[in-house]
Amino acid sequence: MTDEAGPFENFQTQVRTAAETLDLDEGVVDYLTTPQRVEEVNLTVELDDGTLETFEAYRSQFNDDRGPYKGGIRYHPRVSRDEVRALSGWMTYKCGAIDIPYGGAKGGISLDPGAYSEAEIERITRAYAAAIRPVIGVDQDIPGPDVNTGQREMNWLKDTYETLEGRTEPGVVTGKGLESGGSEGRTEATGRSISLTARETFRHLDRELSGATVAVQGYGNAGSVAAALLDDMGARLVAVSDSSGGVYNPEGFDARALKQFKRETGAVTGYPEASEELTGEELLTAEVDLLIPAALENAIDARIAESVAAEVIVEAANGPLTTGADEVLEPRDIVVIPDILANAGGVTVSYFEWVQNRQQFYWSKDRVVEELETHVVDAFEEMVRAKEEHNAATYREAMYIVAIQRVVEAMDEAGHWP
Ligand code: GLU
Repeated sequence: MTDEAGPFENFQTQVRTAAETLDLDEGVVDYLTTPQRVEEVNLTVELDDGTLETFEAYRSQFNDDRGPYKGGIRYHPRVSRDEVRALSGWMTYKCGAIDIPYGGAKGGISLDPGAYSEAEIERITRAYAAAIRPVIGVDQDIPGPDVNTGQREMNWLKDTYETLEGRTEPGVVTGKGLESGGSEGRTEATGRSISLTARETFRHLDRELSGATVAVQGYGNAGSVAAALLDDMGARLVAVSDSSGGVYNPEGFDARALKQFKRETGAVTGYPEASEELTGEELLTAEVDLLIPAALENAIDARIAESVAAEVIVEAANGPLTTGADEVLEPRDIVVIPDILANAGGVTVSYFEWVQNRQQFYWSKDRVVEELETHVVDAFEEMVRAKEEHNAATYREAMYIVAIQRVVEAMDEAGHWP
């Protein structure tokens, strides 16, 4: 049963489903579903108490037909070879969907970052940067932030790389702090594209976003920023969860105040404005207009999908729905807007950051926001057009058709060698 599949198998099914419509040769489909290279490195690092610990880490380089490999670095106990391979594949089609000149990659270290001191995280990050240095580069492979990494880690990666190379090269990594070559608007970029995608979806479906009720699973950088921007658009944030559990209030939460509460206490549970606490599963099946899974892969499987009550799902996490969930939701007429469009704002502003680094000319926040909106709205329209043109069953399939066509075109233009 497909639902038992790990993220990489789910990813492959997503690409294969869209590839069927395009009638591609089996050899091409194999190529489109296989990473070009997966580096596995083991990092042995000295802890604060003087003992040594070894961490498994990866960098999966999926495809570079449209430009250098690009994708984030994740710190999480669930990081595995299977997961980074899937995430690097999703990055490839995300960059194709949003039309930026990159291929796809992803990396990660298998660890629980909460269990280590800041000094230990710094040593682990620098060990990782040194280990992957031979395979990254400003024109080769450009890391960025992902789950549990941010400006701090990106600054360390950049500094380690530059120190070892003996020259400055800020464009080798994106998501840096503003004084280290970062871009205005990068931190909010993922949440911004999620909210823009939700806005376009409601417009396309002829529904009012103002007053619509929203549930968000995961209140990290993507989920909390998306919630705040949707709040600004007049939507009502009625349910939020994180790994501690969920909170509910039919009147709606102030998204920013809830974020502040989580920052202070580490969790959304216990929030005094909540009228009720929810389990994680209750949040996913809450009676809302819009559900935003913004945590990790495989959050909604076929069983949970049977009870989803939302009419629209906008995927903020990478791969939050299993193939089994897709199979249940499609006949139920629940609209699913795929991750490779909705959360593409992060890598899009990473691209803007890289452009600014290379030109050594920095943009205003207004320019970043405006150019991001253009990319998201254009990609949304192309997805809608492809859905009609190819009579695709889902928006996911339609978005993959657009992205796959771009990758295949680049591959065809270059020919195959060796
Ligand atoms: N982690 C982000 C994603 O999943 C993007 C990372 C980057 O900017 O390279 O899309």
